[in-house]
This record gives sequence, C-alpha cells and structure tokens, in this order.
Amino acid sequence: VNFPDPVSLATPAFILLVVIELVMGRWNGTSRYEANDTATSLLMGFGSVVAGISLGFIGYSVFTLAAPYALFDFGYAWPVIVICFIADDLAYYVFHRAAHRVRWFWASHVIHHSSQYYNLSTALRQTWTGPLSLNFLFRLPLVLLGFPLEVVFFTAGINLVYQFWIHTETIDRLGPLEWVMNTPSHHRVHHATNPLYLDSNYAGTFIIWDRMFGTFVEERHDEPPVYGIVANIATFNPLRVAFHEWIAMFKDISRSKSVKSIFGFIFAPPGWTPDKSRETTDMIKARWRASKLKS
Ligand SMILES: [Zn+2]
Ligand SMILES: [Zn+2]
Repeated sequence: VNFPDPVSLATPAFILLVVIELVMGRWNGTSRYEANDTATSLLMGFGSVVAGISLGFIGYSVFTLAAPYALFDFGYAWPVIVICFIADDLAYYVFHRAAHRVRWFWASHVIHHSSQYYNLSTALRQTWTGPLSLNFLFRLPLVLLGFPLEVVFFTAGINLVYQFWIHTETIDRLGPLEWVMNTPSHHRVHHATNPLYLDSNYAGTFIIWDRMFGTFVEERHDEPPVYGIVANIATFNPLRVAFHEWIAMFKDISRSKSVKSIFGFIFAPPGWTPDKSRETTDMIKARWRASKLKS
C-alpha cells in the first residue's frame, strides 16, 4: 500500500504561506520577520529534509526489524489510520515532553526553539539530528502494536504538517477549538521563555494530552510571550544552530569527574550541573515563584 508523503506535498504551501504572512505584515506594519532569522529558519528546514533523506534509514531499519514482532496486524482500513493518528499524537506528546526534559533529546530539539521570533518561518526551523538522537524510538510502540509502517509514517507526516500553521501571532483565540486542538495561542506559550509558560503545551495536534497530564498553560494577554530559549545562542549560523547543544553536552561529559555526572549531563533536564552552577527550568520557575511571593 502506497501512502503519499504529507510533508513534501505541503512544502510549496509552507513557502507560499510564509511569503503571504511576511508581505501582509510589511503591508500593515505588524511584520514579525527578520531577514537573517528567516533565512536561518529556511536553511534549517532544508537541512532537516536532507538529514531525513540521508539518515532516515536508521529509524526505517529499526521499524522494519521490529514489524514482524508486532502484537497485531491492524491493516490499512481508514479507521485504523484515524486511530493511528491519535495514538501517534500521544507518542508525539511523550517525545516532545522528553525533548524538553532530557538533555539528550533537547540537544536535537533546541534547534526548533532557537529563534527569538515567532512566525510561520519558525515552523520550518527543524532539527538536523533527529534520527541520530533516536527520536523515532518514541514511535516504535505504534509499530510493535501492529500499525503498518506506511500508516505510522503517514500519520507522523500529517502531524508535522498540522503544526505548521500554529506558528503565528496573526491568529488570536479560536473559541471552542482551543479546548481540543493545539492552536497558535497554545503553541505561542510553548515557545515562550516567561517562567509562567516554561515547560508547557507539548501537544502536536490535540491539546487534550496537556490537559490530561497537567502540562497545560493558557496564554494570558497580560503576559506577552518572550520567544526563544532561556539561554539564547545569538547566532544565525546554521551549523552552530544545529550542533551547539551537542557540542556543549559533549564538553560537559568530557570534563565530568564521575559516572553520575556523565549520566546527569545526558539524561537530566537541560541546565543541570552537579554543582548547580547553571539553572534548569525548574530552578528558574522556583526563583520566579519566590520573587512573586515577596512582592
Ligand atoms: Zn518544543
Ligand atoms: Zn513550534
């Protein structure tokens, strides 16, 4: 059974919509685009496609090896595709939460958060090292359950395509949709570094997972999102954007004096150090809560 690749089909529309948002913003003076930033985002998007083509075989091989051991064989009927899409979105939620809370996965995911701007081009700022950081392992349970490989790749592609349009400040709130779907408002919160907003709204398509698992935070009009990462990297160089956190992590590991700290630098949340010389998001939030209590 042949399924189309949703991401390559949607790519012309991505480019067109970026151009429309950019031109419209210039027209009415609300543009949130910066030339260097947009160029870097487009290069990261292009590089991520190249990485997918050249390294995608890693995940594909693991899935192919695992498929014969699947518990069931769900086949290709359309309800299977719908259920796989929902299950895949849950897998994405788990992946994305790990991507923010485990430095190994953050080293790859930080790329998507490295822009201090928030517009449709930010959606294209994708990692180059996803296959190397073994992100695909989060989708392995779908294969082991019995969803065919083609269906898993197809629904994963749809999920990525869905997430494009939510990277915008041009849409405020969408009424009852906000309850079920991941929306521009919810995802602005996810990209924000305000202590109130840190580590929230990990959803891909459905915001219900964040509501169920306690990671949902609503956007507040009196708290405009400040975009980026808590320690911004201040570079438009695509190579530095792609690899800076991997390099920092391996430097930390090479200077480690104990096995415990090696494990910490790989599996603890970003910012963790044995001597607390840097801040994790938990520490930033605690400091913020304490300062609020005082004032
Ligand atoms: Zn994220
Ligand atoms: Zn995003």
